Amino acid sequence: MENLTDIRMIQAIFKKHGFTFSKKLGQNFLINPEVCPRIAELGGADENTGVLEIGPGIGVLTNELAKRAKKVVALELDSRLPPILAETLAEHKNVTVLSGDVLKTDLHALLAREFSGMEVCVCANLPYYITSPVIMKLMEDRLPLKSITVMVQKEAAQRLCAAIPSREMGAVTVAVRYFSEPEILFPVQRKSFLPAPNVDSAVVRFSLRGELPKGITDEAFFFRTIRAAFSQRRKTLANSLASGLQIPKESVLQAIRTAELTESIRPEQLSMEQFIGCAEILRRFVQGK
Ligand code: SAM
Repeated sequence: MENLTDIRMIQAIFKKHGFTFSKKLGQNFLINPEVCPRIAELGGADENTGVLEIGPGIGVLTNELAKRAKKVVALELDSRLPPILAETLAEHKNVTVLSGDVLKTDLHALLAREFSGMEVCVCANLPYYITSPVIMKLMEDRLPLKSITVMVQKEAAQRLCAAIPSREMGAVTVAVRYFSEPEILFPVQRKSFLPAPNVDSAVVRFSLRGELPKGITDEAFFFRTIRAAFSQRRKTLANSLASGLQIPKESVLQAIRTAELTESIRPEQLSMEQFIGCAEILRRFVQGK
């Protein structure tokens, strides 16, 4: 179905199926006709590629993906939507709608089952309440993905794509940069959605690295260190690490000095290499090897 951004069409579909928006599930559907074709183009949907979409809603982005991609698999948590999608996507034979929670789905198994022999991209207008957990799951699970292109709230986009080091960065900035090259593609105004959220959005693309940064022996410890480093804004790195990792402050200071950093350095002043170096020295201290 083509005119899924037309409010009268949406209202007619809702009326027929007795559907009302769920705020809890982050349901803000796209009604700006210019946005979905751009996400599909820039997200890498082409005749050789499979696309996993998270949260298709009534299928407005799915429709644009299906026109371009070899195959689209759309994973939706709200069980009221698949019957609607069966109608709105009826003309596309290359779309499979699956019911499920993206955070509880074995995505390795899903990709192997649905996209055998294809390169795969993720494209989605993400539900805002789980933006970071979804992005981190897609990356930490080491899924064989080419890229992840998602709409997120503008502030989340800025945090995800912040420079390292910079005042804007947080733990999630370092984590996504470890796995990918992130980039903000274009902004999307709040009036592009029904219902309109209280904030503007942006589309972000993560190009996944073939090779991860070197120097990390224990990835789980590295991520714990990063989370601890940013757990208390405006504190020094030493104080945040000491309380976040529950290591004596003097040991943390020793690690910081060994990493050739100043004792008063703040987490937002470290480069990726410095985070890796510092985490590795701390790991040796904690694990004794
Ligand atoms: N793609 C549609 C669009 O752009 O208009 C809908 C986007 S809406 C922001 C987010 C969608 O994700 C909704 O359809 C919602 O039901 C679905 N959703 C919410 N939580 C989910 C989860 N844990 N797993 C899968 N889908 C989820």
